[in-house]
Amino acid sequence: MSKEREGKRQVNVTRRRFLKTSGGAAAAVAGTAVVGCATSQAQKKPAATSSAATEEAAPAPSAEKEKAVIQRYRMLGRTGFKTSDISMGCGSIADANVVRYAYDHGINLFDVAEGYGDGDSERKIGEAMQFMDRKKIFIVTKLAVKPEDTEQSLLERFGKCLQRLQTDYADALYSHSVSTVAEVKNKAFHAAVKKLKAEGKLKHAGISNHGPHGQQDMDSMEKVLLAAVEDGRFDLMLLVHNFMKADEGERVLKACKEKNIGTTAMKTSPGQLKIEPFDPASPNEEYAGVLKRLTGRGMSQEEAVERIHKYLERMKGEMEKHKHLLDPFVAKYGIQTQDQLNQRSVQWVLQNPDMHTICVSMPDFDKLDEFIPLSGTELTAAGAQFLRDYQASFGHQYCRHACSDCATSCPHDLPVSTMMRYTYYFQQQGREKHAMAKYAHLQGHDASLCLDCEEAPCLSACPYGVSIQASLIKAHQMLTLA
Ligand code: SF4
Ligand code: SF4
Repeated sequence: MSKEREGKRQVNVTRRRFLKTSGGAAAAVAGTAVVGCATSQAQKKPAATSSAATEEAAPAPSAEKEKAVIQRYRMLGRTGFKTSDISMGCGSIADANVVRYAYDHGINLFDVAEGYGDGDSERKIGEAMQFMDRKKIFIVTKLAVKPEDTEQSLLERFGKCLQRLQTDYADALYSHSVSTVAEVKNKAFHAAVKKLKAEGKLKHAGISNHGPHGQQDMDSMEKVLLAAVEDGRFDLMLLVHNFMKADEGERVLKACKEKNIGTTAMKTSPGQLKIEPFDPASPNEEYAGVLKRLTGRGMSQEEAVERIHKYLERMKGEMEKHKHLLDPFVAKYGIQTQDQLNQRSVQWVLQNPDMHTICVSMPDFDKLDEFIPLSGTELTAAGAQFLRDYQASFGHQYCRHACSDCATSCPHDLPVSTMMRYTYYFQQQGREKHAMAKYAHLQGHDASLCLDCEEAPCLSACPYGVSIQASLIKAHQMLTLA
């Protein structure tokens, strides 16, 4: 283990041990001493803001404090709540102290769902609830509404969400990952929302969308969310928005602004900053796994080797095709880290005041320490140029979230962008188990079919130049146990 990594882990152990063995207020003060941040100030900030302004910076903290607490709060549309510009995506949470740590550092919106860890994320928030001022936080939870759901079934499921969250009400309930215009008007969902509001168990309805999941029978993110704006019953939206796929999100944001709907961005850090060496003569572990898989399915060793060689040759061609794009980027910027890309990506989203908050997946202390310092910061001209250059050089490696442009090209109707999204959960968000479980749900209707697809009609189907077959074979390796 490197010294740098080792040092980082020691800090975390200290934080965890401290938070676990101390009471709420005392923990906050000592936590401040360890990581050098302004706990008490962070807790006061949301209350200190004026309700007249739609956006304002927190009082200037000392240089030391400035690094570690939320610096900006924005009005979350017509909800009237002032949200931290960085909110906590709760897809997975290592332990309840992570929630307390986020709260202590000024994060006041927690975005969770019934389905995150089968209720485990809600439970972790619930465990932390007693250490937070309920009136100063905004809890979003979500239910995936199925065709067979009734008002009653949704009420029962929502009741369990509240139990796990250890609270009497949720600030918002979203219809989760709605993928058709028809689902926007789901009667059971709206009836349940109406009842819950009347009972004081819910304040607002919202909707989230990941795009059409790469499938033909689903509608685009834009169509679904514009239908929700038009519907008028949704106060909040969670949408995909990043510098690699900006147009659709910007049109949705414009419509939301007209109706004063609260907006949250997800999938804000697209792409990988990785240039892989490629040597067909000595396939790495990844291709050894493919070989094992092919022979395991009854193919002879020779046939399998030939299949892989064919695939590798094709991939080599793809790499050569893009070499002229990658080389200048490396020459201009040298080695850049994934963190540098992620941080500029987040700043790009935050520069738009019509996006009220971004929901970053922050399962542990390290992620909180990485993203909280970005609150209130601006994207520099050099940072913006970096992103433009990245897009020009690496755009062919990123499967756009919420896209389905290649959907008709696959004879098996594979959900290409959905499978690529699972690799995002795995690589970018560190949610390996979740990603693998989601992938397993595809039950064979997955990228294993790409191994046998000799013609690969998807090859030229992506307008952005993504090499679909190669990416999906990698995805399959990543998301299954080889
Ligand atoms: S591979 Fe290309 S066309 Fe297909 S979903 Fe991804 S970005 Fe869209
Ligand atoms: S390689 Fe074949 S099976 Fe895989 S996505 Fe492309 S067309 Fe579909």
